[in-house]
Amino acid sequence: MRGDRILVDLSTRAYPTPMQAARLDTWLDATSSISAALTALPVALRADAVAGLPDAWPEVPISILRQIVRWADRGTTIRRDCVPLDDEVMAVTPYLVHVVGLDDLLLSDVTRLPLGLSGALLADGARRLDEVDASLQTQLRSGRAGPVGAADVQQMVRRYGTLLGTTYRTAGVPGAERARYATLRAYRAPDGGRQWSITWSIRIAPRWLPAASVDDCVGVDVGVRRLLTWASRDHAGSVTGWRLTAGEWQEDSTMEAAVRRRALFARSAAELDAALRGILAFRRVAIEATNWRGLAGTPQIDAMTASAVVDVRHWLTALARVTGSAVVPVSAWSSSRHCGHCGQPGVRQGSHFTCAICGDADADDNAARYLRACA
Ligand SMILES: [Zn+2]
Repeated sequence: MRGDRILVDLSTRAYPTPMQAARLDTWLDATSSISAALTALPVALRADAVAGLPDAWPEVPISILRQIVRWADRGTTIRRDCVPLDDEVMAVTPYLVHVVGLDDLLLSDVTRLPLGLSGALLADGARRLDEVDASLQTQLRSGRAGPVGAADVQQMVRRYGTLLGTTYRTAGVPGAERARYATLRAYRAPDGGRQWSITWSIRIAPRWLPAASVDDCVGVDVGVRRLLTWASRDHAGSVTGWRLTAGEWQEDSTMEAAVRRRALFARSAAELDAALRGILAFRRVAIEATNWRGLAGTPQIDAMTASAVVDVRHWLTALARVTGSAVVPVSAWSSSRHCGHCGQPGVRQGSHFTCAICGDADADDNAARYLRACA
């Protein structure tokens, strides 16, 4: 049954070329201007305004203009930093997505999703390209391509021609499939520049992850020495990190950097997945609410971005909709300075934490215990 499935939103970073970024900037402007204008307009004038949009915004694909109008109609609160893409975007390889209205494929970290969920995006892309291929074959075979049919064929070939026959094959993910909702988002990077991501909705079967059954809270600390450390009343565990060697992490938008990011993510993906499953078995999850901005430009943030643990909170919050866990962000600033057993201030030195009352502990274990106690 489709109706009992749960929509989960997960994001993949996107790395447009300067030319693509200029176009996406225009789309952002269009989205906020159009929705503001339509919301303010008397109903009687609306139809004319909508009809005039393609001329007013020639750089925005008509299908995306339609989506923007639909958002305005629904009264969806338009965030200034979003563009509705929905069916206009699809993942076609582990590194590239096709966006209607962009001349080239857009680089995006499609495979840096937890629990293999990128398989749902890739399976959707493969299925849709197969449909395009089949429909092209039919039109060409039928031989009755009049002027209209010929224009259709031309448009499809222009849009998808380079992709046909090269579809990235994937088995997909049983119990998870891509839903049509997808949003392009722009946000300010710690260094002040603009970063982009695509938020995808994935429809997940309710029992794809077991419902949270452990009646306890688990504290989750993310970091570099250990990517992730968790502690509950009775259990504790961690995912060990690794050191980046010079040049291993690059934020630029080349394919080489994307291949590197995928390889770095793969180093710990299986361990991270196992930890996520373990954590989501708890009814309550207390996770460090880190201010990444404060870490801008440090080797720590590079290492954490490389391993994707910067996204752990986002993943847990999204997947908790399936398991029913409550995810509670806890301010992280004090977790390195207080004892997770007695709550008293202590001293962190490197990987050690010392409490005058309770003695020595591993700093990350202590932080996870303290986060749990704070929730
Ligand atoms: Zn103590």
